[in-house]
Amino acid sequence: MSTGPTARSLGLGQQRWPKVDPGAALLLVPVGSLEQHGPHLPLATDTMIANAVTRAAAERLDTTGATVLVAPSINYGASGEHEGFPGTVSIGHEALFLLLAEYGRSATRWASGVIFVNGHGGNTATLTKVVDLLRYEGRAVAWTSTDLPGSDAHAGDTETSLLRHLAPWAVRVDLMEPGATEPVQQLMPRLREGGVREVSPNGVLGDPTASSAERGRALFDRLVANLAAELTALDVTENGRLSRRPAPVAAP
Ligand SMILES: [Zn+2]
Repeated sequence: MSTGPTARSLGLGQQRWPKVDPGAALLLVPVGSLEQHGPHLPLATDTMIANAVTRAAAERLDTTGATVLVAPSINYGASGEHEGFPGTVSIGHEALFLLLAEYGRSATRWASGVIFVNGHGGNTATLTKVVDLLRYEGRAVAWTSTDLPGSDAHAGDTETSLLRHLAPWAVRVDLMEPGATEPVQQLMPRLREGGVREVSPNGVLGDPTASSAERGRALFDRLVANLAAELTALDVTENGRLSRRPAPVAAP
């Protein structure tokens, strides 16, 4: 038995067309963003998390014999609220909508289904709308996300812990500092008005200073287990999201 990477875990970009079985493969598409994540995390944080969770979940499914392909990620999203910080590049909701609509239409010509795996909360409203349209057109498309209930909002403990586990070389722990720590709901009116810069001069919503790679690993394992469970069930809720299948949480 081969111990190297399977053809499927190499991803769609490394396939050759005769090897792609029309109608048999479920295509997973990580969707991220390019936006500021505080002074300590890279701009591609959401994309990196979406990619890592999707690949790990796909590899888990590989062992069950499901045919799953991971597409090259969509590395830009709707990040208007972060445009007050240099480095951020937002394509906005309209462009994201069109991009995902045409993506879904094209990929479902051969894929048995398309699942967008979203790593950036700001994309959610558009994802819900576009998946609704694609499903109305009769296509097998759904979305899911890499958020966990109880996570903090942005570049705080959750994302920083995840990155310290996934890509420790990409985290400047010496530059970690708290940002706005009020609940996001409370910040919303000012945030809507003036963007993240208005409520948090360093771009952080939350506090990354107590983050750890160890907690990041536990969070990552939960995200991967949840996604693998959702992909196994393939049960789509009303708003086009895969229904949440929280994997059992190990006792602390
Ligand atoms: Zn993020």
